[in-house]
Amino acid sequence: MKSKETGFNSRLVHGTGKRDPLGSVITPIYQTSTFSFESAEHGAKCFAGESDGYIYTRIGNPTNNDLEKSIADMENGFGGIVTSSGMGAVNTLYLAYLGAGKHIVSHNAVYGPARGLIEGTYSKFGVESTYVDTTEINQVIQAIRSNTSMIYLETPANPTIGISDIPAIVEIAHQHNIKVCVDNTFCSPYLQNPLDMGADIVLHSLTKFINGHADIVGGALVTKTEEDYLKLRSMMVISGCNMDPHQAFLVRRGLKTLGIRVDRAQENAIKVASFLEAHPKVAWVMYPGLKSHPQHELAKRLMRGPGAMISFGLSGGLEAGKKLMNNVKLCILAVSLGGIETLIQHPASMTHSKLSKEAKKQGGISDDLVRLSVGIEESEDILEDLSQALDLV
Ligand SMILES: *Cc1c(COP(=O)(O)O)cnc(C)c1O
Repeated sequence: MKSKETGFNSRLVHGTGKRDPLGSVITPIYQTSTFSFESAEHGAKCFAGESDGYIYTRIGNPTNNDLEKSIADMENGFGGIVTSSGMGAVNTLYLAYLGAGKHIVSHNAVYGPARGLIEGTYSKFGVESTYVDTTEINQVIQAIRSNTSMIYLETPANPTIGISDIPAIVEIAHQHNIKVCVDNTFCSPYLQNPLDMGADIVLHSLTKFINGHADIVGGALVTKTEEDYLKLRSMMVISGCNMDPHQAFLVRRGLKTLGIRVDRAQENAIKVASFLEAHPKVAWVMYPGLKSHPQHELAKRLMRGPGAMISFGLSGGLEAGKKLMNNVKLCILAVSLGGIETLIQHPASMTHSKLSKEAKKQGGISDDLVRLSVGIEESEDILEDLSQALDLV
């Protein structure tokens, strides 16, 4: 089960690497901080990079490595790097590619902390940034400066579900020698592969769809080239953003069912989005699978399916949204997404609460916006729960 021709789900289940030498069907948790050398000479070779043996878990660990290979394979990349969290991956990326006098362009509704880290911390070290609506290609072009070194996209964006045209942006970026990184968390590699569209780096919060069971946090970076891979790996190692082997084991287990989980959640989400769009108390719905989505056609071109994330607003505004969230019984009121359970949340008061009023407005995060991460329960139960809660609004 190693060839690229093998189907996605088969590769998810069987992996791409060698089986464990003792015959364990599942890659064991190598819960160790350090690895013994056969001799001083062997140790010296390891440090010189002449042997592919393991040295120390921050640098590399077989359990982590198995997960890294699998994720790189799912994204059709050269190599993968797993990190302590999604933000660990974001920070590794920024540390590797940004510096004093460099400039980053990103989406104004990008994952809140990914923007907060630039504006609150990297700005202190002389990093410049411009946040625009990257779903509008002209805004991206206008934001590019002579010192721009990275365009950081998130598509669909969180939580507005706006879609950015990855291939078109890559074309412009590469004319200016600018790297493009895409946060592919919302789609997962099952629905979208940014490297195939020309992007240089893909970023994931493994916490979401890839692990899928709301029991760990984790992150990953996948690169197209060896050069970017080595640059990011050495930064992950030196900055201590590494993943723990037990975390890696859980993510590897979750990853095996990514395809069937996303299929099921997406099937439910299509039904929920249609239900919400037809409901008299719902003012608007943003879901790539609906014809009413402004980038519906682009979404069909970039993504193999509309996914399981829905944003919507209630006619009654913020107060109605609060009532809805206080009255759901099956759906869980919590941040995060991409798990087997349906989660509902209010970005303006939760995930994006630290953003200024201006930044929220720019990012399209209105006070009435409710975000739903649809799970794998019976669709009838999700619909019934939303329906009873909407009756009380
Ligand atoms: C959650 C999330 C992150 C950050 O990941 P953590 O694992 O929470 O650190 C980054 N990007 C997106 C789109 C996310 O949803």
